[in-house]
Amino acid sequence: MGVFEAVGTDTHEQVIFGVDHPSGLRTIIAIHNTALGPALGGTRFFPYRSEEDALTDVLRLSRGMTYKSAAAGLDLGGGKAVIIGDPQTMKSERLFRAYATVVDSLGGRYITAEDVGTTMEDMVVIRRGTKHVAGLPSAHGGSGDPSPATARGVQRAMEAVAETIWGSRDLAGKRMAVQGIGKVGMSLVERLTAAGVEIVVADVNPAAVDHAVDTFGAKAVELDDIYGVDCDIFAPCALGATLNEHTIPMLRCTAVAGSANNQLAVAEDAERMREREILYTPDFVVNAGGVINIAAESQRYSAERAASMVDGIYDNVKAVLLRAAAAGINAHRAAEGIAEERIEAIGMLRLRAGTAG
Ligand code: NAD
Repeated sequence: MGVFEAVGTDTHEQVIFGVDHPSGLRTIIAIHNTALGPALGGTRFFPYRSEEDALTDVLRLSRGMTYKSAAAGLDLGGGKAVIIGDPQTMKSERLFRAYATVVDSLGGRYITAEDVGTTMEDMVVIRRGTKHVAGLPSAHGGSGDPSPATARGVQRAMEAVAETIWGSRDLAGKRMAVQGIGKVGMSLVERLTAAGVEIVVADVNPAAVDHAVDTFGAKAVELDDIYGVDCDIFAPCALGATLNEHTIPMLRCTAVAGSANNQLAVAEDAERMREREILYTPDFVVNAGGVINIAAESQRYSAERAASMVDGIYDNVKAVLLRAAAAGINAHRAAEGIAEERIEAIGMLRLRAGTAG
């Protein structure tokens, strides 16, 4: 597929390609939509098998950011960047400074942050070449690691689920299965344990499993057994596409709420869960804590204000579930509808006021 054909399949505003031969930089930045504000999204540094794979990923991820920020009620649009290559071996000051010039050339229409393969320390280097960077370490006046905020948001989402299904947001005595106990998953396990939740975990990393078992009294199961754990809420916090035609029939949970991006292999999987009467809460609403935390940097960052903004995920999830129930549709589609309406309505006002973009 040609570049224009690939980009033309969705409604991206702009896609730019940047290159710096001496450092090996090959980057693609996709701005999906700026109707609600500048396009915020992280820089993914990944050894893509082909340029086509990198383009497909950046287009998909930037669109996802538009929906995530819109559904979270933020004044931000959706964008994303990819750097093609191995982050273990290719990182250098020159590469990031060259990348910064590409970000800077967009004049603030795109704001970058960390993502898979990039760190807060990398953002500090990029910041030397452009001010359009968020998610800096707290020592640099930034919001620091977004993972605890993401975990906080997942917990609020679970409370909204609990209130909807069991009539109380209290999670004490509930049983949750957490798939993937990395930065977000472990923070979630810690929070849930403190809330009196019984935890079952699975992770490819034995050290993480040991830590969850020893420190939080979690029960560990084999990787594939996590789907079949008899539990109240299943929390996918590892990779994308773990909810699919093979795994959904295995689920023995009442609801799903987790941090992983792009949990559904295909959109029909939301319907598949609805048919099984499993309440699926859309990933991009549930896992917005990180981007909300970063957005709080736009006014002088305060951890307290950021936390209270993240707590709004409870109301956001409730609104999605109410709309889904009222319209008889799955929650994924309901959340997309809320995001699209907000982009349309508020984006139009911003356009009229001349503040868009
Ligand atoms: P992470 O890399 O720290 O953790 C991922 C964990 O999943 C690791 O412990 C890894 O060993 C484990 N894992 C990998 N494959 C697995 C498998 N097949 N089964 C079980 N466990 C497996 O990443 P993270 O920052 O904790 O993010 C987790 C997910 O949440 C990702 O999908 C990420 O995109 C998404 N997310 C993260 C944030 C954030 O603030 N960090 C924000 C939004 C979304």
